[in-house]
Amino acid sequence: MNTRVRFAPSPTGYLHIGSARTALFNYLFARHTGGKFLLRIEDTDLARSTSESTRSILEGLQWLGFAPDEEIVYQSNNAPKHREIALKLLNEGKAYRDFTPKAERGDGDVKAAIVERAREQKDMRDNPFRDLSKEESDAKAGAGEPFAIRLKVAANGKTSFEDAVYGLNERDYSETEDLVLLRSDGHPLYNLAVVCDDIEMQITHVIRGQDHLTNTHKQVLIYEALGEQPPIFGHLPLILAPNKGKLSKRKHGEVVSMTTYRDAGFLAAAFRNFLVLLGWSAGEEKEIYTFDELIKKFSLDHIHKNNAVFNFDANDPRHWTDDKAIWMNAEYVRTMPIADLLPFVKAELKSAKLWRD
Ligand code: GLU
Repeated sequence: MNTRVRFAPSPTGYLHIGSARTALFNYLFARHTGGKFLLRIEDTDLARSTSESTRSILEGLQWLGFAPDEEIVYQSNNAPKHREIALKLLNEGKAYRDFTPKAERGDGDVKAAIVERAREQKDMRDNPFRDLSKEESDAKAGAGEPFAIRLKVAANGKTSFEDAVYGLNERDYSETEDLVLLRSDGHPLYNLAVVCDDIEMQITHVIRGQDHLTNTHKQVLIYEALGEQPPIFGHLPLILAPNKGKLSKRKHGEVVSMTTYRDAGFLAAAFRNFLVLLGWSAGEEKEIYTFDELIKKFSLDHIHKNNAVFNFDANDPRHWTDDKAIWMNAEYVRTMPIADLLPFVKAELKSAKLWRD
């Protein structure tokens, strides 16, 4: 099999440490298997995506040295295709038009009253438009009534997949709502867009944070409706804040941004080495690896199931970031051949105006 993996960040902020680790694992997996590493910018959330974020993400990836093997895909360019596929599912009776007025529908951030109610009743299939005849549905649409398109999830059964990290994952259909594929304004929603693009890009392995597990079950349903074989999924443990809470840009600020480390003079090689140990180990004492060694050793079955912790103390300048990252960087600096170190020293001196060419 020619493996094809992708890193698919949403450009709603800078390259976060968790995303950088996802990119690294994808990159190592691609190199280890002789496959391709692709990059897809998921810029479909128009309200939150910015070109500034895209630039910052690309800069972070460039610093880390993860160049994509094919042209970057911008997800918003594929919206017409996503719409076409939603309509195909509608025509095949695998999806239906939901004419619920927008405020109630909750196909954006607002939780739909209808979904909420159904959740409480443990019945996710009580949408009054679910079983409208084709004629009735066509007539309403023909009369100009706005509608969203929802996937018709069967009442009985379960989605299941063998995760490369966490093993067998199953979820009863009854726990998943009839998910919205297309909003009434024609905007394709996240799960549809991801599945369509992963199929189009012939992705063989989806390696991403385990915060996407719920989405994965929804995506498996879309693959099933499309009659397509899902890729192999490998979910990664989370990287938590020191208090074991969520590590976030909003709460923790610059310490989670890749460009912070670049600008603080970290060596990219050292930072990659630090990152790889947040959720993976080769099962030996050794911690310092050349990149070639990592490529040789990396495998999905050595990814940890337990979440990793990124340790730092925002109130103590000596521990502004994880001690291990600082130690790792120092090790690299100490052991680097002088000739390799020289350009970095020059750059530092130049930025301090202590060197002129
Ligand atoms: N765009 C999603 C994110 O940034 C990732 C989607 C995926 O990897 O499937 O969390």
